[in-house]
Amino acid sequence: MRDRIIDQAFTRESLHGNVGEPTYSGALSFFRRKYTRDLTGVDVAVTGVPLDLATTNRPGARFGPAAIRAASAIMAWSRPYGWAFDPFDRLAVVDAGDCPFDFGRPERVPDEIEQHARGLLDGGAALLTLGGDHFISYPLLKAHAAKHGAPLSLLHFDAHTDTWADDEEERIEHGTMFYHAARQGLVDPARSVQVGIRTYNAEPMGFNILDASWVHANGVAATVAEIRRILGDGKVYLTFDIDCLDPSFAPGTGTPVCGGLSSAQVLAIFKGLAGINLIGMDVVEVAPTYDVGQITALAGAAIAAECLCLMAHNRAAR
Ligand code: MN
Ligand code: MN
Repeated sequence: MRDRIIDQAFTRESLHGNVGEPTYSGALSFFRRKYTRDLTGVDVAVTGVPLDLATTNRPGARFGPAAIRAASAIMAWSRPYGWAFDPFDRLAVVDAGDCPFDFGRPERVPDEIEQHARGLLDGGAALLTLGGDHFISYPLLKAHAAKHGAPLSLLHFDAHTDTWADDEEERIEHGTMFYHAARQGLVDPARSVQVGIRTYNAEPMGFNILDASWVHANGVAATVAEIRRILGDGKVYLTFDIDCLDPSFAPGTGTPVCGGLSSAQVLAIFKGLAGINLIGMDVVEVAPTYDVGQITALAGAAIAAECLCLMAHNRAAR
C-alpha cells in the first residue's frame, strides 16, 4: 500500500488512463484528472461554473461543480461501463478548475463566463462544463458558436424547455436562455431536440420535443432513432439539466418535476448516440443541498463521463 498513488490531481504525469486512488482522500478533481490550465496536448478541459444567481426556485447549484467532482472519485478507478474503450485512453482530459466571476456584479457574469470559455476553446480544448444553474449554457453557447460557427444543433435533456419568452435579452434567468439562443441564431431549432420535457410552455420556438411521456411510451431505441434523425451529422452542443432525471434519481436540484427519465434510460440513450458530431457539452443544475446520499451528484458525474465517451467514440484508439 505504501506505493499507492494519491493526489493524482497534482501528482499524475500522463494525461491519459486511470489509476486507482482511495475515494476518501486526495484532491477532488474531476475523475482524478490533472488540475491545470496548461492546455498543451489537451483534448478536453473540464471546468466548473459555480453560479446559481439565475434560479427561479431553490438555489444551491453553485455547489454543483464541487459535488460532481467529489462524486466522480467513486468512478475514477475504471472506465465507464458499456463502452468498448476507455475515454481517458483516447482523450487527454484535464480539470481546468472553475470560472472566476464577481458575484457583486451580476450583470458582468454572462460575459465573464463567455470569456472564460473562449479562452479554453482558443487553447485548443473542447469543453465539458459543470454547472451551476442552466443559465450558464447561454454564454457557453455563444463561445461555442464563435468557435465552431452558428447555428449549432442543441441536444437538450431537461424537464423544462427553457424557451420561455423574454424580451429583455440581458436578463439572467435559467428558463429563457434557449429562447434567446434560438432568436439570435446560435442554435437551429429545426435541427435540435429537447428530451424529457414535462412542463407546459406555449412557446416551443420551433424546437423538436420528445417529452417524457413520449420517451416512456416509445422506449430507448425509438428515442435514439428520433434524436439521430433530427441531429443528422451537424455539430452538436449537448446540455444536460439534471432535472431531466426523475426526482427519485436526482432529488438534488432546484426545480424537480415528477415523471422523469431513469438514469438507466439516459445511460442507454447515450450509448445509442455514439457517432454524433459532438463539439461541446455541459451538465447543470446539480444542487447538493437537496441531495440524498450523493445520488444526484453521482448521476451528474456519470452523465458527464458518458459525454466524454460520446466524444471519445469519434477519436481513433491510441
Ligand atoms: Mn429543468
Ligand atoms: Mn434547464
